[in-house]
Amino acid sequence: MLVLSSPSGAGKTTISRALLERDDNLTMSVSATTRPMRPGEVDGKDYYFVDEAKFNQMIADGELLEHANVFGNFYGTPRKPVEDALGDGKDILFDIDWQGTQQLAANDSTRDDLVSVFILPPNTAELENRLRTRAQDPEEVVQKRMSKAADEMSHYREYGYVIVNDKIDASVEQVQTILTAERTRIGRQMGLHEFVQELRESD
Ligand code: 5GP
Repeated sequence: MLVLSSPSGAGKTTISRALLERDDNLTMSVSATTRPMRPGEVDGKDYYFVDEAKFNQMIADGELLEHANVFGNFYGTPRKPVEDALGDGKDILFDIDWQGTQQLAANDSTRDDLVSVFILPPNTAELENRLRTRAQDPEEVVQKRMSKAADEMSHYREYGYVIVNDKIDASVEQVQTILTAERTRIGRQMGLHEFVQELRESD
């Protein structure tokens, strides 16, 4: 479970897309949200867009692995697709905030699978610039996000890795390296015992 978190505008979405493109064993977790759809977004691909009643029902039914209120809207990770993907030996990429990451880290059923990466912008001007060029949200939302960015960044210590996203290509490479290293950990390699057994027997 590879979690990428960052303040809005740090380049996390671009990094996620690049990773998904180059890594066949990685799938994206599609969150449910009560936030209104933005132009160009596709229901079921970018998010499952639901109303608050449906979101609360999902919580009540235990369908969400974690959930949080981010900037006044609710976001949550559907449990089933994650369990299915992990069961198939796939890795999953999550674009969730620090609250969700804390929940996955505190949960006995997800803690051991969790690899968390916090992405920082190279500087404040760049962060603001990226938020403005996106320009899909109303000005008041942009302002709100900028004022929240500092708060969000204060949580970087809760993550296993931190990347300063100066050059996208280098950042993608860094995340890929983390992924490769974490996949190589003894506890994460399925069938290792049998494999070594076989090697020893054929000796
Ligand atoms: P946006 O509305 O820009 O797509 O996302 C806003 C914030 O919500 C981002 O920081 C994103 O990481 C976070 N987010 C998206 N999906 C989830 C989720 O399922 N759970 C949590 N905790 N945060 C999420």
